[in-house]
Amino acid sequence: MKKLAAGNWKMNGLAESLAEIDALAAAHPAPGCEVLICPPSTLLSKLSERASGTAIDTGGQDCHVAASGAHTGDVSAEMLSDAGATYVIVGHSERRADHGETDATVRAKAEAAWRAGLTAIVCVGETLEQREAGQTLAIVGAQLRGSVPDGATASNTVIAYEPVWAIGTGKVPTLDEIGEVHDDMRTQLTARFGDDASGMRLLYGGSVKPSNANEIFGVSNVDGALVGGASLKAADFGGIVSALG
Ligand code: PEP
Repeated sequence: MKKLAAGNWKMNGLAESLAEIDALAAAHPAPGCEVLICPPSTLLSKLSERASGTAIDTGGQDCHVAASGAHTGDVSAEMLSDAGATYVIVGHSERRADHGETDATVRAKAEAAWRAGLTAIVCVGETLEQREAGQTLAIVGAQLRGSVPDGATASNTVIAYEPVWAIGTGKVPTLDEIGEVHDDMRTQLTARFGDDASGMRLLYGGSVKPSNANEIFGVSNVDGALVGGASLKAADFGGIVSALG
């Protein structure tokens, strides 16, 4: 299994940000892990062209369930693929919160990703209130069951565990807390998908930085990271890539 460092630029980035790709590619010509950048869809095509011939893959941050149609402002998985993407994030907590996405929506989006030949990065994670109520494993388990479609394999699906309270806050669960969730996810996925789940990559996401990446990547069943803020600058993201590779 090749580990994965995935960067989510969210609604950040203008044409000038494309230079970060050159810096990242120059610093990591042959990384020991897969490196993925998910820019805003306005930059995807240009970024994919710029990254071609480098070790950097590109992905979308969301997709519509339909391939095309009357859905103003939306982007389909097929369009992402056409723009050079090989991955798409689905069910990020910001989509779940800001756009009312349910597990059923996320599952349909993952299926749309597969239809277009993309690997789906399915995000799950508990709120602070849920963690404090001791519901973390139950919530994450329910999200996994509801959001990951039947037919998930190690090559068409990546799971990202992102505690909502750790995203963009600088707060990170303890290593034991991360390990507890990742071990439980592996158990659940193996029970459902069999041996193939042993190679499914389980990313941790939430305030990963070069300074904490090493210890997080040492936790059992952590196969990489989904990174927001620290993916915007090649120097920071490169530090995370180095810790993983
Ligand atoms: C994210 O949004 O997926 C994320 C993990 O953000 P950050 O790294 O900024 O916490």
